[in-house]
Amino acid sequence: FPIGKMGLIQRLPEDVVNRMAAGEVLARPCNAIKELVENSLDAGATEIKVMMQNGGLKILQVSDNGKGIEREDFELVCERFATSKLQKFEDLMHMKTYGFRGEALASLSHVAKVNIVSKRADAKCAYQGNFLDGKLLAPTKPAAGKNGTCITATDLFYNLPTRRNKMTTHGEEAKMVYDTLLRFAIHRPDVSFALHQNQSSDFRTKGDGNFRDVVCNLLGRDVADTVIPISLESTRLKFKFTGKISKPIASATSKNAQNRKTNRSFFSVFINGRSVRCDILKHPIDDVLQNRSLCVQFCALHLEIDETRIDVNVHPTKSSVIFLEKEEIIEEIREYFEKFINDLFGLPDKTEAV
Ligand code: ADP
Ligand code: MG
Repeated sequence: FPIGKMGLIQRLPEDVVNRMAAGEVLARPCNAIKELVENSLDAGATEIKVMMQNGGLKILQVSDNGKGIEREDFELVCERFATSKLQKFEDLMHMKTYGFRGEALASLSHVAKVNIVSKRADAKCAYQGNFLDGKLLAPTKPAAGKNGTCITATDLFYNLPTRRNKMTTHGEEAKMVYDTLLRFAIHRPDVSFALHQNQSSDFRTKGDGNFRDVVCNLLGRDVADTVIPISLESTRLKFKFTGKISKPIASATSKNAQNRKTNRSFFSVFINGRSVRCDILKHPIDDVLQNRSLCVQFCALHLEIDETRIDVNVHPTKSSVIFLEKEEIIEEIREYFEKFINDLFGLPDKTEAV
C-alpha cells in the first residue's frame, strides 16, 4: 500500500455512535419515563413518583423506594451495555425484568444531564453523582436521601437542537408522559404511582392492589363500574389471555359519552408483563365489536405466553414483539371473544350492521 494514503471509510467517534443510539432509544420524554419507571419496578419499588417541567424537556425526575444502587456501581451505572440483570446470551430467553440491555441510563446521559441519588437499605447514607455522556463526572458524594433511588434528567435533548425545537408544544409531550404512566398504574395496582407537573393533570394511585379504584380514579366511575374480566387459556398454543374491558356500548353513544366526559378512552396490551405496542391483539377484539357496532372505553389486555414462542428483543425500546403462531393465536382470541359478546348480548340478529 502507498504509505500515508487513507481510504474514505473511517470509524465514527464513540460519542457520536452513542449519541445516535441514544436518540433511537429515547425519541421523546415519554420513552425516558418508560425506561426509568421500568428500572424502578425492576428494583422492586412499591412507590414511584414522577415530576416533570415543560413536558419533561426541562426536568424529568423519577424517584422510587426500590432496592437502590450500590456506591460502587455508580461508575458503571450510565455506561452503555452495563447491567446488573443479564449475564449471558442464553438468559435472554428467561428475562423476568423489564431491563437487560443496559442502555437506558447510558442513553439518557447522552441526551441530558443526569443526576442520581440513591440509598441502599444497608448503607448509612445516600450517595449522589452527576453524569454526562456515559460517565460519572466526579467521585460520588454522600447525600441526604431515603432508601431508594431518585434519577433526574435536566435539559433533555440539549445537544439535539433539531429534536428539541420540534417539541415546542410541551403539552403534547406531557400528555404522552401521562399516558405512559397511566398504563403502568392500571397494570400495577399494587404499586403507588404519582405524577406532578401542574394541578390539572396530576394523579396519584394508592398502590393497595385495588384495580377498580385505580380505574375509577383515572377514568371515572362510569367506566370503572362496568369493567368485566375476559379470560382464555390455550394449552395447545401455550398462552393465557386475560383482560379487563368496560362493558361494550353502541359506538354512536360511546362517542358522545367520551366527548362529554373525559374525552379519554384507554387501551393497553401487555405481553409477559411488558407494555408493548401490539395492535395485533387488538384486531380480533375490534373486529368483533365493529361487526356489531359496539365499542369499549376501557380495554386492558394481557398475554402470558411461553417465553420460547416470542422474541421481545426486536428493538432497543422492546416495544414490539415477534411471535410464532401469530395467526392461530389471533383466531383463538377472535372465536373466544365472539362467543363472549354473544353470551353478553345474545346472537346478532340479521338486521344488525355488518
Ligand atoms: P438495564 O435496566 O437494561 O439493566 P439501565 O441502563 O436501565 O439498564 O440501568 C442500568 C443499571 O442501573 C441496572 O441494571 C440497575 O442495576 C441499575 N438501576 C437503574 N435504575 C435503578 C433504580 N431505580 N433502582 C435500582 N437500580 C437501578
Ligand atoms: Mg432499564
